[in-house]
Amino acid sequence: MKIPGPYSGGIILSYQCNLSCIHCLYNCHGKWNSWINIEKLEKIIKTLKNIKNFTSLHLTGGEPFINFPLLLESVRLCKKYEIPFFVETNCYWAKNIQITEEKLKKLKENGLNSIMLSYSIFYVDKVPIENFEIAMRKSIEIFGSENVSFYTISGYKLIKDLNIKGNLSFEKCLNLIGEKNFINFLKTYIVPKGKVLYTLDKWFFKFPAEKFKRANCVYEFLNPYHIHIDLYGNYMPSFCAGITIGNYEEVLEKGINDEDKVLKFLLNDIYELLLWAESYGYKRKDGYVNKCHLCLDIRKFLIENNFRFDSLKPEEFYKNL
Ligand code: SF4
Ligand code: SF4
Repeated sequence: MKIPGPYSGGIILSYQCNLSCIHCLYNCHGKWNSWINIEKLEKIIKTLKNIKNFTSLHLTGGEPFINFPLLLESVRLCKKYEIPFFVETNCYWAKNIQITEEKLKKLKENGLNSIMLSYSIFYVDKVPIENFEIAMRKSIEIFGSENVSFYTISGYKLIKDLNIKGNLSFEKCLNLIGEKNFINFLKTYIVPKGKVLYTLDKWFFKFPAEKFKRANCVYEFLNPYHIHIDLYGNYMPSFCAGITIGNYEEVLEKGINDEDKVLKFLLNDIYELLLWAESYGYKRKDGYVNKCHLCLDIRKFLIENNFRFDSLKPEEFYKNL
């Protein structure tokens, strides 16, 4: 099946992160150790640049600032190909004004014009709120307020209003925020896919598997608004994590790899995937948050039981899920 060219998307430079947030879509943490090869990155950027309607690229991870030389190189490449882009970060590195200014100015000199800063209750145990505030102030000064975005400002304000200084564990922070405020925050913040379906599942309503009969992923696979290509070349649509519809070059040229058994099921009916997995020993749960929860739980079972499919990548994603 052919897909429309994407309008916007991110390149995952690495899954390595100094944090391992409980809401992390891609199950990033410090044990991932590969980073994108610069030639591969250039090829991906060139490909995206040649897509007619592609208007916005983000360089992301993992945490791109961990490998600052590679980040600088990546920024230079984006500048060279004149592709509109920004960088995402969790601000861990913004330890003081001097460091922050140095890094941001270097990025600007090399061609960066726009940045997205992330902060919320999920970061506060490892990234002090002061780091985010320094990064915010300096980014606005260096790039201009119209070129700085936040994920999310309400997530930050929730912590700020508690007058927290430095770090605080997630549990203590949650106690201070209160369940009602936390649920309201989750509604506007969380993408209910990936790791969060296990770590925060008690906060979601669940439905029996029958609810997802005849559900499929055609809309998500064809959705051109938010795709990711990772360092291995995996093309991942619509925030899907640990699953790829193919290598990005093949996907953009020929379409979805619909020879893959898992993708075939997902293009047709996810309930059929469940019945098939059950025939190999998968035990269905009493309830699932959504079809992505059902999908992820089956994929996890498949990987843990040594089934191998081209679509279930990168495999490390499934470790410690
Ligand atoms: S900072 Fe971002 S990439 Fe890193 S673990 Fe948290 S959500 Fe994932
Ligand atoms: S069910 Fe699976 S493949 Fe489909 S959108 Fe959700 S995570 Fe992606």
